[in-house]
Amino acid sequence: MVCLYQQEGLEFSELIKDIIKKQFNLPVVVAHSVRIPSQAFNPLRTQYDAMKIIETFVYSLDQKCNWHLIIIDKDIYTPRFNFIFGLADVQRNIAVVSTYRLSKNGLLKERLAKEVVHEMGHILGLNHCPIPVCVMYFSNTVADTDRKGFDLCPECRRKVERI
Ligand SMILES: [Zn+2]
Ligand SMILES: [Zn+2]
Repeated sequence: MVCLYQQEGLEFSELIKDIIKKQFNLPVVVAHSVRIPSQAFNPLRTQYDAMKIIETFVYSLDQKCNWHLIIIDKDIYTPRFNFIFGLADVQRNIAVVSTYRLSKNGLLKERLAKEVVHEMGHILGLNHCPIPVCVMYFSNTVADTDRKGFDLCPECRRKVERI
């Protein structure tokens, strides 16, 4: 079971339930809402450190779930990147996805669904895939996200089905 934690004011429950059911056949339950910890904000970058968000969140995980998905609307980064769409902590099975960079041109829901499948793929054991249309392809830009589909390629599908 996957627990879904959304930042207050965000409501993507149905979209996320549908896409996770379709791609991984896993049920999603809506858990408590997320407050972004102020210590995750980096004033020099005016962005939020995604790993700090996850690390703070570890203490409030709903224990009934094996996998945890956090949806926020803040501009997030990790030290190696200017920005990221999402981040997966594969040790703790926690993924975070932000809508911040995904909303241009009215394609938010489509892109969010793809990035959710991508980060869930990581916490279910998948790595990046070299096939540009596979959802596990690494997205550097929204153009990458728009090019790829919602689906795992046959090779990634085979790997996730072994898990
Ligand atoms: Zn990735
Ligand atoms: Zn693939």
